[in-house]
Amino acid sequence: MDVEEGESLETSIMNCPDKSSFEKHPLVTYAKMSGGKTIPLLKSMITSVCERNCKYCSFRSGRDFHRATFTPDEMASTFLDLNQKNIAKGLFLSSGIAGGGVRMQDKIIDTAEILRTKRKFGGYLHMKIMPGAEYDQIKQLMKYADRVSINLEAPNPERLNNLAPLKNFGEELFSRLKWVESIRKNHDPKPNWRQKWPSLTTQMVIGPSGENDVEILKASDYLIQNFHLARIYYMTFTPVLNTPLENFPAENPMRGHRLYQASYLLRDYGFKFEDFAFDQNGLLDLNFDPKKFWAENNLKGSPLEINRASREELLRIPGIGPKKVEMIARYRKQKKIQSESDLKFLGISLESVSQYILMNGKTPIHQLKFAFE
Ligand code: SF4
Repeated sequence: MDVEEGESLETSIMNCPDKSSFEKHPLVTYAKMSGGKTIPLLKSMITSVCERNCKYCSFRSGRDFHRATFTPDEMASTFLDLNQKNIAKGLFLSSGIAGGGVRMQDKIIDTAEILRTKRKFGGYLHMKIMPGAEYDQIKQLMKYADRVSINLEAPNPERLNNLAPLKNFGEELFSRLKWVESIRKNHDPKPNWRQKWPSLTTQMVIGPSGENDVEILKASDYLIQNFHLARIYYMTFTPVLNTPLENFPAENPMRGHRLYQASYLLRDYGFKFEDFAFDQNGLLDLNFDPKKFWAENNLKGSPLEINRASREELLRIPGIGPKKVEMIARYRKQKKIQSESDLKFLGISLESVSQYILMNGKTPIHQLKFAFE
Protein backbone atom coordinates (compact mmCIF):
# COMPACT_ATOMS: atom_id res chain seq x y z
CA MET A 1 0.00 0.00 0.00
CA ASP A 2 0.98 3.56 -0.21
CA VAL A 3 0.61 4.56 3.38
CA GLU A 4 3.85 5.47 5.09
CA GLU A 5 5.25 7.80 7.70
CA GLY A 6 3.27 5.77 10.24
CA GLU A 7 6.20 5.11 12.51
CA SER A 8 7.35 8.69 12.69
CA LEU A 9 3.88 10.11 12.77
CA GLU A 10 3.03 8.42 16.01
CA THR A 11 5.97 10.16 17.60
CA SER A 12 5.05 13.40 15.90
CA ILE A 13 1.50 13.21 17.16
CA MET A 14 2.71 12.56 20.68
CA ASN A 15 4.94 15.61 20.46
CA CYS A 16 2.48 17.82 18.67
CA PRO A 17 1.35 20.75 20.79
CA ASP A 18 -2.07 20.55 19.13
CA LYS A 19 -2.70 16.85 19.11
CA SER A 20 -6.32 17.43 20.15
CA SER A 21 -7.04 18.56 16.58
CA PHE A 22 -5.74 15.21 15.28
CA GLU A 23 -8.23 13.42 17.50
CA LYS A 24 -11.01 15.57 16.09
CA HIS A 25 -10.04 14.90 12.46
CA PRO A 26 -9.24 11.25 11.94
CA LEU A 27 -8.25 11.77 8.28
CA VAL A 28 -5.50 14.14 9.32
CA THR A 29 -2.24 13.01 10.77
CA TYR A 30 0.93 14.88 11.71
CA ALA A 31 4.20 14.91 9.84
CA LYS A 32 7.51 16.25 11.02
CA MET A 33 9.17 18.51 8.46
CA SER A 34 12.92 18.84 8.10
CA GLY A 35 13.79 21.57 10.57
CA GLY A 36 11.55 20.04 13.22
CA LYS A 37 8.23 21.79 12.43
CA THR A 38 5.16 19.55 12.68
CA ILE A 39 2.23 20.04 10.32
CA PRO A 40 -1.20 18.41 9.99
CA LEU A 41 -1.22 16.32 6.81
CA LEU A 42 -4.16 14.89 4.92
CA LYS A 43 -3.24 11.34 3.84
CA SER A 44 -5.51 10.29 1.06
CA MET A 45 -5.83 8.13 -2.03
CA ILE A 46 -7.20 8.96 -5.47
CA THR A 47 -8.91 5.57 -5.30
CA SER A 48 -9.10 2.69 -2.84
CA VAL A 49 -9.87 0.35 -5.76
CA CYS A 50 -6.86 -1.85 -6.51
CA GLU A 51 -6.15 -4.60 -9.02
CA ARG A 52 -3.06 -5.85 -7.16
CA ASN A 53 -3.16 -8.42 -4.35
CA CYS A 54 -0.41 -7.48 -1.88
CA LYS A 55 -0.90 -9.91 0.97
CA TYR A 56 -0.62 -7.43 3.85
CA CYS A 57 -2.82 -4.69 2.40
CA SER A 58 -6.38 -3.79 3.34
CA PHE A 59 -6.99 -2.41 -0.20
CA ARG A 60 -5.98 -5.62 -2.04
CA SER A 61 -8.23 -6.79 -4.85
CA GLY A 62 -11.07 -9.09 -3.88
CA ARG A 63 -11.27 -7.86 -0.28
CA ASP A 64 -14.84 -6.94 0.51
CA PHE A 65 -15.28 -3.35 1.67
CA HIS A 66 -16.74 -0.10 0.34
CA ARG A 67 -14.31 1.57 -2.06
CA ALA A 68 -14.17 5.22 -3.12
CA THR A 69 -12.64 7.17 -6.02
CA PHE A 70 -11.96 10.90 -6.45
CA THR A 71 -11.34 12.84 -9.64
CA PRO A 72 -8.25 15.09 -9.44
CA ASP A 73 -10.57 18.15 -9.19
CA GLU A 74 -12.52 16.60 -6.33
CA MET A 75 -9.34 15.63 -4.51
CA ALA A 76 -7.85 19.13 -4.91
CA SER A 77 -11.06 20.81 -3.74
CA THR A 78 -11.54 18.47 -0.77
CA PHE A 79 -8.00 19.11 0.37
CA LEU A 80 -8.20 22.89 -0.12
CA ASP A 81 -11.44 22.96 1.87
CA LEU A 82 -9.64 21.29 4.80
CA ASN A 83 -6.70 23.61 4.25
CA GLN A 84 -8.87 26.73 4.39
CA LYS A 85 -10.48 25.47 7.60
CA ASN A 86 -6.96 25.10 9.01
CA ILE A 87 -7.39 21.36 9.43
CA ALA A 88 -4.73 20.14 6.97
CA LYS A 89 -1.63 22.13 6.01
CA GLY A 90 -0.20 19.56 3.62
CA LEU A 91 -1.26 16.65 1.43
CA PHE A 92 0.20 13.16 1.09
CA LEU A 93 -1.46 11.66 -1.97
CA SER A 94 -1.31 8.05 -3.01
CA SER A 95 -3.57 5.61 -4.82
CA GLY A 96 -4.62 2.05 -5.38
CA ILE A 97 -3.90 0.77 -8.89
CA ALA A 98 -6.94 0.68 -11.15
CA GLY A 99 -6.18 0.42 -14.86
CA GLY A 100 -2.39 0.36 -14.40
CA GLY A 101 0.23 2.47 -12.64
CA VAL A 102 0.60 4.88 -15.59
CA ARG A 103 -3.11 5.77 -15.52
CA MET A 104 -3.12 6.37 -11.77
CA GLN A 105 0.12 8.38 -12.00
CA ASP A 106 -1.60 10.75 -14.43
CA LYS A 107 -4.35 11.37 -11.88
CA ILE A 108 -1.84 12.14 -9.13
CA ILE A 109 0.06 14.50 -11.46
CA ASP A 110 -3.21 16.21 -12.46
CA THR A 111 -4.08 16.77 -8.80
CA ALA A 112 -0.65 18.27 -8.09
CA GLU A 113 -0.91 20.47 -11.19
CA ILE A 114 -4.36 21.76 -10.19
CA LEU A 115 -3.17 22.55 -6.69
CA ARG A 116 0.00 24.35 -7.76
CA THR A 117 -0.98 26.11 -10.98
CA LYS A 118 -4.77 26.66 -10.91
CA ARG A 119 -5.32 26.95 -7.16
CA LYS A 120 -1.88 28.38 -6.25
CA PHE A 121 -1.43 26.13 -3.23
CA GLY A 122 2.01 26.88 -1.76
CA GLY A 123 2.18 24.33 1.06
CA TYR A 124 3.60 20.84 1.46
CA LEU A 125 2.88 18.12 -1.13
CA HIS A 126 4.12 14.57 -0.77
CA MET A 127 3.20 12.67 -3.92
CA LYS A 128 3.44 8.96 -4.54
CA ILE A 129 5.17 7.49 -7.58
CA MET A 130 3.10 4.57 -8.78
CA PRO A 131 4.65 1.19 -9.68
CA GLY A 132 5.50 1.24 -13.39
CA ALA A 133 5.17 5.05 -13.82
CA GLU A 134 6.96 6.47 -16.88
CA TYR A 135 10.13 8.59 -16.74
CA ASP A 136 8.44 11.76 -18.04
CA GLN A 137 5.55 11.33 -15.61
CA ILE A 138 7.97 11.14 -12.69
CA LYS A 139 9.82 14.24 -13.93
CA GLN A 140 6.52 16.11 -14.25
CA LEU A 141 5.38 15.10 -10.76
CA MET A 142 8.72 16.15 -9.30
CA LYS A 143 8.15 19.70 -10.58
CA TYR A 144 5.31 20.16 -8.13
CA ALA A 145 6.16 18.00 -5.11
CA ASP A 146 8.17 18.69 -1.96
CA ARG A 147 8.67 14.97 -1.52
CA VAL A 148 8.11 11.93 -3.73
CA SER A 149 8.21 8.29 -2.69
CA ILE A 150 7.95 4.83 -4.07
CA ASN A 151 7.62 1.91 -1.72
CA LEU A 152 9.94 -1.01 -2.32
CA GLU A 153 8.02 -2.86 0.44
CA ALA A 154 10.88 -5.39 0.80
CA PRO A 155 14.69 -5.37 0.64
CA ASN A 156 15.00 -7.57 -2.47
CA PRO A 157 12.96 -9.28 -5.22
CA GLU A 158 12.65 -12.63 -3.39
CA ARG A 159 11.18 -11.04 -0.28
CA LEU A 160 8.85 -8.84 -2.31
CA ASN A 161 7.54 -11.90 -4.09
CA ASN A 162 6.49 -13.34 -0.69
CA LEU A 163 4.45 -10.22 0.02
CA ALA A 164 3.23 -8.85 -3.30
CA PRO A 165 3.32 -11.47 -6.07
CA LEU A 166 2.06 -9.03 -8.73
CA LYS A 167 4.72 -6.39 -8.10
CA ASN A 168 8.04 -6.49 -9.93
CA PHE A 169 10.88 -5.27 -7.70
CA GLY A 170 13.36 -4.35 -10.43
CA GLU A 171 11.19 -3.22 -13.33
CA GLU A 172 8.41 -1.38 -11.48
CA LEU A 173 9.94 -0.10 -8.25
CA PHE A 174 13.74 -0.05 -7.95
CA SER A 175 14.19 1.37 -11.47
CA ARG A 176 11.87 4.28 -10.52
CA LEU A 177 13.99 5.16 -7.47
CA LYS A 178 16.97 5.21 -9.81
CA TRP A 179 15.14 7.54 -12.21
CA VAL A 180 14.33 10.01 -9.44
CA GLU A 181 18.02 10.26 -8.57
CA SER A 182 18.98 10.53 -12.23
CA ILE A 183 16.45 13.35 -12.77
CA ARG A 184 17.78 15.18 -9.73
CA LYS A 185 21.34 14.80 -10.97
CA ASN A 186 20.85 15.60 -14.66
CA HIS A 187 18.14 18.23 -14.94
CA ASP A 188 17.96 21.83 -13.85
CA PRO A 189 15.38 22.31 -11.05
CA LYS A 190 14.95 26.07 -11.66
CA PRO A 191 11.65 25.78 -13.59
CA ASN A 192 10.13 23.77 -10.70
CA TRP A 193 7.60 25.05 -8.22
CA ARG A 194 10.23 25.48 -5.50
CA GLN A 195 13.17 25.76 -7.89
CA LYS A 196 14.61 22.61 -6.39
CA TRP A 197 14.04 18.87 -6.64
CA PRO A 198 11.91 17.07 -4.07
CA SER A 199 13.30 14.70 -1.44
CA LEU A 200 12.83 10.96 -1.90
CA THR A 201 11.68 8.26 0.52
CA THR A 202 10.69 4.61 0.46
CA GLN A 203 9.07 2.11 2.77
CA MET A 204 9.62 -1.53 3.70
CA VAL A 205 7.16 -3.77 5.48
CA ILE A 206 8.90 -5.46 8.40
CA GLY A 207 8.00 -8.98 9.50
CA PRO A 208 5.99 -11.15 7.16
CA SER A 209 8.32 -11.67 4.16
CA GLY A 210 10.83 -13.71 6.19
CA GLU A 211 13.46 -10.99 5.77
CA ASN A 212 16.10 -10.33 8.42
CA ASP A 213 17.84 -7.12 9.52
CA VAL A 214 20.98 -7.98 7.52
CA GLU A 215 18.95 -7.84 4.30
CA ILE A 216 17.10 -4.68 5.33
CA LEU A 217 20.18 -2.74 6.42
CA LYS A 218 22.25 -3.87 3.44
CA ALA A 219 19.50 -2.56 1.14
CA SER A 220 19.08 0.61 3.27
CA ASP A 221 22.82 1.34 3.15
CA TYR A 222 22.82 0.96 -0.65
CA LEU A 223 19.75 3.20 -1.08
CA ILE A 224 21.07 5.93 1.20
CA GLN A 225 24.52 5.97 -0.42
CA ASN A 226 23.34 5.76 -4.04
CA PHE A 227 19.96 7.49 -4.16
CA HIS A 228 20.31 9.87 -1.18
CA LEU A 229 17.03 8.87 0.39
CA ALA A 230 15.80 11.37 2.95
CA ARG A 231 14.28 8.53 4.88
CA ILE A 232 13.38 4.87 4.80
CA TYR A 233 10.18 3.98 6.63
CA TYR A 234 10.04 0.62 8.36
CA MET A 235 6.40 -0.34 8.73
CA THR A 236 6.21 -3.04 11.38
CA PHE A 237 3.57 -5.49 10.22
CA THR A 238 0.12 -5.66 11.82
CA PRO A 239 -2.29 -8.27 10.44
CA VAL A 240 -5.42 -7.13 8.60
CA LEU A 241 -8.62 -9.20 8.71
CA ASN A 242 -9.62 -11.01 5.52
CA THR A 243 -6.14 -10.95 4.00
CA PRO A 244 -3.84 -13.96 3.49
CA LEU A 245 -1.72 -12.76 6.42
CA GLU A 246 -4.57 -12.26 8.90
CA ASN A 247 -3.18 -14.98 11.19
CA PHE A 248 0.46 -13.95 10.84
CA PRO A 249 1.73 -12.49 14.14
CA ALA A 250 2.26 -8.73 14.41
CA GLU A 251 5.91 -7.65 14.34
CA ASN A 252 7.48 -6.32 17.53
CA PRO A 253 7.55 -2.48 17.19
CA MET A 254 10.95 -2.47 18.93
CA ARG A 255 12.41 -4.13 15.82
CA GLY A 256 11.23 -1.18 13.74
CA HIS A 257 12.67 1.22 16.33
CA ARG A 258 16.12 -0.43 16.18
CA LEU A 259 16.03 -0.34 12.36
CA TYR A 260 15.23 3.39 12.42
CA GLN A 261 18.15 3.98 14.78
CA ALA A 262 20.45 1.99 12.50
CA SER A 263 19.29 3.80 9.38
CA TYR A 264 19.90 7.22 10.98
CA LEU A 265 23.43 6.01 11.78
CA LEU A 266 23.86 5.14 8.09
CA ARG A 267 22.41 8.45 6.92
CA ASP A 268 23.83 10.99 9.37
CA TYR A 269 26.59 9.40 11.45
CA GLY A 270 28.97 7.90 8.90
CA PHE A 271 28.15 4.29 9.84
CA LYS A 272 28.44 1.55 7.23
CA PHE A 273 26.53 -1.71 7.07
CA GLU A 274 29.66 -3.53 8.31
CA ASP A 275 29.54 -1.59 11.60
CA PHE A 276 26.42 -3.40 12.82
CA ALA A 277 26.42 -6.66 14.76
CA PHE A 278 23.72 -9.26 14.18
CA ASP A 279 22.75 -12.49 15.93
CA GLN A 280 22.78 -15.90 14.21
CA ASN A 281 19.39 -15.10 12.67
CA GLY A 282 20.67 -11.88 11.13
CA LEU A 283 18.79 -9.64 13.59
CA LEU A 284 19.93 -6.61 15.60
CA ASP A 285 19.87 -6.93 19.38
CA LEU A 286 16.51 -5.52 20.51
CA ASN A 287 17.93 -4.65 23.94
CA PHE A 288 20.62 -2.26 22.72
CA ASP A 289 20.72 0.95 20.77
CA PRO A 290 23.01 -0.05 17.84
CA LYS A 291 25.26 2.98 18.40
CA LYS A 292 25.78 2.08 22.05
CA PHE A 293 26.40 -1.53 21.03
CA TRP A 294 29.14 -0.38 18.65
CA ALA A 295 30.69 1.89 21.30
CA GLU A 296 30.69 -0.87 23.92
CA ASN A 297 32.68 -3.07 21.55
CA ASN A 298 34.98 -0.44 20.07
CA LEU A 299 35.43 2.53 22.43
CA LYS A 300 35.16 1.12 25.92
CA GLY A 301 38.75 -0.11 26.05
CA SER A 302 40.14 2.75 23.96
CA PRO A 303 38.26 5.98 24.71
CA LEU A 304 38.54 9.02 22.43
CA GLU A 305 40.16 12.26 23.59
CA ILE A 306 37.26 14.68 23.18
CA ASN A 307 39.61 17.64 22.64
CA ARG A 308 41.30 16.00 19.64
CA ALA A 309 38.75 13.60 18.15
CA SER A 310 37.76 14.21 14.53
CA ARG A 311 34.18 14.93 13.49
CA GLU A 312 33.80 11.31 12.32
CA GLU A 313 35.11 9.98 15.65
CA LEU A 314 32.89 12.27 17.73
CA LEU A 315 29.82 11.02 15.84
CA ARG A 316 30.59 7.50 17.09
CA ILE A 317 30.19 8.50 20.76
CA PRO A 318 26.76 7.71 22.27
CA GLY A 319 25.01 10.93 23.30
CA ILE A 320 26.77 13.04 20.64
CA GLY A 321 24.96 13.81 17.36
CA PRO A 322 25.73 16.09 14.37
CA LYS A 323 24.58 19.31 16.15
CA LYS A 324 26.68 18.59 19.24
CA VAL A 325 29.69 17.86 17.03
CA GLU A 326 29.39 21.36 15.55
CA MET A 327 29.12 22.85 19.05
CA ILE A 328 32.18 20.92 20.24
CA ALA A 329 34.18 22.13 17.22
CA ARG A 330 33.26 25.77 17.98
CA TYR A 331 33.95 25.37 21.71
CA ARG A 332 37.37 23.77 21.10
CA LYS A 333 38.46 26.84 19.13
CA GLN A 334 38.04 28.89 22.35
CA LYS A 335 39.09 26.48 25.10
CA LYS A 336 39.56 22.90 26.16
CA ILE A 337 36.78 20.65 27.36
CA GLN A 338 37.93 19.50 30.76
CA SER A 339 35.07 19.23 33.21
CA GLU A 340 31.54 18.01 33.64
CA SER A 341 30.36 21.63 33.56
CA ASP A 342 32.01 22.10 30.13
CA LEU A 343 30.04 19.08 28.92
CA LYS A 344 26.88 20.41 30.52
CA PHE A 345 27.40 23.72 28.74
CA LEU A 346 27.49 21.76 25.47
CA GLY A 347 24.31 19.88 26.41
CA ILE A 348 26.17 16.56 26.73
CA SER A 349 25.31 14.18 29.55
CA LEU A 350 28.38 12.86 31.35
CA GLU A 351 26.51 9.64 32.03
CA SER A 352 26.17 8.92 28.26
CA VAL A 353 29.78 9.62 27.32
CA SER A 354 31.87 8.89 30.41
CA GLN A 355 32.94 5.39 29.37
CA TYR A 356 33.93 6.39 25.86
CA ILE A 357 35.91 9.64 26.21
CA LEU A 358 38.93 11.17 27.84
CA MET A 359 38.99 14.86 28.82
CA ASN A 360 42.49 16.23 28.69
CA GLY A 361 43.86 12.69 28.94
CA LYS A 362 41.79 11.80 31.97
CA THR A 363 38.80 9.50 32.36
CA PRO A 364 35.83 11.62 33.44
CA ILE A 365 34.60 10.71 36.88
CA HIS A 366 30.93 9.99 36.86
CA GLN A 367 29.45 9.55 40.29
CA LEU A 368 26.36 7.44 40.38
CA LYS A 369 23.46 9.11 42.12
CA PHE A 370 21.87 6.84 44.69
CA ALA A 371 18.24 6.97 45.53
CA PHE A 372 18.94 8.03 49.14
CA GLU A 373 21.14 10.98 48.18
S1 SF4 B 1 -0.69 -1.93 -4.91
FE1 SF4 B 1 -0.65 -3.40 -3.23
S2 SF4 B 1 -0.10 -2.12 -1.46
FE2 SF4 B 1 -0.79 -0.67 -3.05
S3 SF4 B 1 -2.99 -0.41 -2.66
FE3 SF4 B 1 -2.79 -2.10 -4.13
S4 SF4 B 1 -2.80 -3.96 -2.90
FE4 SF4 B 1 -2.35 -2.24 -1.55
